[in-house]
Amino acid sequence: GREWHLVARPQGWPKPEDFALREVPVAEPGPGQVLVRNLYMSVDPYMRGRMNDVKSYVPPFQLDQPMEGGAVGTVIASNAEGIAVGAHVLHFGGWREYAVVDGKRAVTVDPEVAPLTTYLGVLGMTGLTAYAGLLEVASFKEGDAVFVSGAAGAVGSEVGQIAKLKGASRVIGSAGSDEKVRLLIEEYGFDAAFNYKNGPVAEQLKEAAPDGIDVYFDNVGGEHLEAALSSLKVHGRIATCGMISIYNETEPPAAPRNMALFIGKRLRMQGMLVNDHNHLQPQFFEEVGAWVRDGKLRYRETVVKGVDNAVEAFLGMLRGENIGKMIVSLDS
Ligand code: NDP
Repeated sequence: GREWHLVARPQGWPKPEDFALREVPVAEPGPGQVLVRNLYMSVDPYMRGRMNDVKSYVPPFQLDQPMEGGAVGTVIASNAEGIAVGAHVLHFGGWREYAVVDGKRAVTVDPEVAPLTTYLGVLGMTGLTAYAGLLEVASFKEGDAVFVSGAAGAVGSEVGQIAKLKGASRVIGSAGSDEKVRLLIEEYGFDAAFNYKNGPVAEQLKEAAPDGIDVYFDNVGGEHLEAALSSLKVHGRIATCGMISIYNETEPPAAPRNMALFIGKRLRMQGMLVNDHNHLQPQFFEEVGAWVRDGKLRYRETVVKGVDNAVEAFLGMLRGENIGKMIVSLDS
């Protein structure tokens, strides 16, 4: 089977030459393990951080070793109690065609309950991030006006819709193309949206939220964060989920320059990691699963075909080529 190795640590934007697709023998599962043939794998922004050789909340990818990440596949051999051959599992052995996984770290998923790709997106890690970030980290309450950046992406599109479903007074989103902006309004029901590439974010946000915002769900950082600080109302809250605008930068960001606003407005800003919110998983799956089934919460996916295109899919996601969750399909 083929697997992707990181072969050089990227400086700034990753280049295709930083990665290599290598053929390796398919391993036998050991005691308690399963062998999975992957059907779908996830490419996510946080993987960019793991390409740097810095200590973080997840250890860096090792050079000349397979990268890892979320994936869903079919069990083709099993030494794990309770996981049968033919079962579908969600696990962390992505970036490869075949993965040997500890049965305890594989979660059985049912394609009859929801399409397999959704366990990586709307009902998976990015979905829980949106749910927990809005409801727990940002302490969202009915009547709040919510601004979310990266709003046409996996996390952002779900944040905006959950806010609407939970009674937000106004939901505003920003995204990087006019097509995405149209989607936010017409399909996801945002009250206002703008293309951050069309002009200064602060001006466009003021126009979209003339009465200010109570919550900023930050996926982007930099100029977006600065704009949100000036539009936040007294006692406003920021959930710091991601700062994708700086992941590939080699210089520190120029913004925000207005942090002093925290004082007079008594703002609260809290960083989050989705793994801290696993206690919400059952409630999330039930509530959001029902919204998805009833068509109340819409989702899109961008599915790139072929393990050989996985790096291109990852880079494309960083460039904004995805609408909704970016997924690689390995089922050829
Ligand atoms: P998305 O589906 O949102 O894909 C990334 C998007 O980021 C792109 O489509 C692009 O859309 C946008 N983007 C890229 N560069 C910039 C830029 N310079 N300025 C503004 N937008 C940019 O990815 P996810 O939904 O998976 O992740 C969204 C955010 O959430 C990321 O910051 C990620 O790191 C974070 N995250 C954090 C987690 C946590 O536990 N803290 C867990 C999961 C995700 P566009 O066309 O609009 O530019």
